[in-house]
Amino acid sequence: MSDELIVGGQGAGVKVNGTGAVRQLWTGNFYNEGINSHDGLFDKLREECGVFGVFGHVEAASLSYYGLHALQHRGQESAGISVTGGESFNYHRGMGLVKEVFNNENLATLSGTCAIGHVRYSTSGESKLANAQPLVFKYREGDLAIATNGNLTNAPDIKKRLEREGSIFQTTSDTEVVAHLIARSKHDDIVLAVKDALLQVEGAFAFLFQTRDKLIVARDSHGLRPFVMGRLGTARLFASESCAFDAVGGKFERDIEPGELLILDLKTGAVTYDRFSPVKQRAICAMEYIYFARPDSDIDETNIHSARKRMGRQLAMEAFVDADVVTGVPDSSISAAIGYAEQTGIPYELGLIKNRYTGRTFIQPSQELREQGVKMKLSAVRSIVEGKRVVMIDDSIVRGTTSLRIVNLLREAGASEVHVRISSPPFANPCFYGIDTPSRQELIAAVKSVEEIRQAINADSLHFLTKDGLLAAIGRPNGEYNRGHCTACFDNHYPTPVPDEAALGCGCD
Ligand code: SF4
Repeated sequence: MSDELIVGGQGAGVKVNGTGAVRQLWTGNFYNEGINSHDGLFDKLREECGVFGVFGHVEAASLSYYGLHALQHRGQESAGISVTGGESFNYHRGMGLVKEVFNNENLATLSGTCAIGHVRYSTSGESKLANAQPLVFKYREGDLAIATNGNLTNAPDIKKRLEREGSIFQTTSDTEVVAHLIARSKHDDIVLAVKDALLQVEGAFAFLFQTRDKLIVARDSHGLRPFVMGRLGTARLFASESCAFDAVGGKFERDIEPGELLILDLKTGAVTYDRFSPVKQRAICAMEYIYFARPDSDIDETNIHSARKRMGRQLAMEAFVDADVVTGVPDSSISAAIGYAEQTGIPYELGLIKNRYTGRTFIQPSQELREQGVKMKLSAVRSIVEGKRVVMIDDSIVRGTTSLRIVNLLREAGASEVHVRISSPPFANPCFYGIDTPSRQELIAAVKSVEEIRQAINADSLHFLTKDGLLAAIGRPNGEYNRGHCTACFDNHYPTPVPDEAALGCGCD
């Protein structure tokens, strides 16, 4: 074991091999897990939710457990599953990871052949059990559970109107707004009431609605958030990402179409394919391909790892730099780094290593310990980068603070040059569709030029992938506007009306 101890905070040094000599290794901020939603491990954007549904399987709750486990990257604050067998209706929700919320005892209480599950990452200040999904309501026709991924851009306005009309809300979740719209619908039939509600909301959503005898599945009419269906034998599966089907031994069947509504009837076993809206301008979130989705997931028949590799290749064609090694910021940038290396012939190396076993902690370190780097999450591999010209691939720059830290890590480990290549265009606009983003003023690309960002992150050179290059790399057909993607965080062209950002402050729910 090395006795080289990292002991310092900002501006602190390192005691080398017990000699007492102090060598300066680190002069910037430490690279630690933060305590608020925007100061996480990589100062990255965060998905807010993942959903999983099962219809027609006696082990519906257990399958949901494993499906949600595969979707854990989409939300780590809370998890829940509700189950019905036609007569009974049970649910369990809790704060924490899927493996922390569920155990053999509580899963055993969730018997039934139809289940919906949810993992949630809440925005700051809203991490509470009341908002954990599935949200469960009693309405005039009986029990109703709802799980969703996304964000309804007009939910605050609808909520204000409903409150003026006497509605009382128990959560701050958009989902409850939809429940109120369903409850107030003039239709007694749940399918018509759901359609009625969905026609009043705008934004991004992948909804699972569950009553005692029906599962209703709906995706927003732009297809902003991913939503796929699959099969396990005769059972039907639904999920935010196809990796959840692999986790339960199921098979991907197809994406849910934008504006599509599926009704699955527990009494008859019938599946009805319907719509609540025609497809509007198709706009799947480009950041799913760049960063959010798991590399083993497919969205719209495109494998995420392969798309990221193509982004890396494209980046190499757009912004080649002569260097000795290519490295990617783990984990989401590894695929793009491999693509960059393949295209240029510069060897790909693991120049940066993430400590996988830090995980969540229930003991919040003091600010002092935090700044002293007790929880270093990322290391530069000295033997790989020392004396080398390094191309560092990352998938995005949000506020720039983390990029600076990583560039400095590489420099302190001896890299002679650090060239940063980003496999997405500059992220300059907040998201209103279910991605937790800082306000526009905090986004470094909104307030600085590329050259100013380069200086701010201490890189020798910096290039972002162009939007056209990104869309070509993802590879969807070229027949629709933007090849069917949302790229609003890059180009400020939102596919739906969005609220007054200045009033809202950010794109959060
Ligand atoms: S604004 Fe960006 S992050 Fe949000 S849905 Fe559109 S592409 Fe995705």
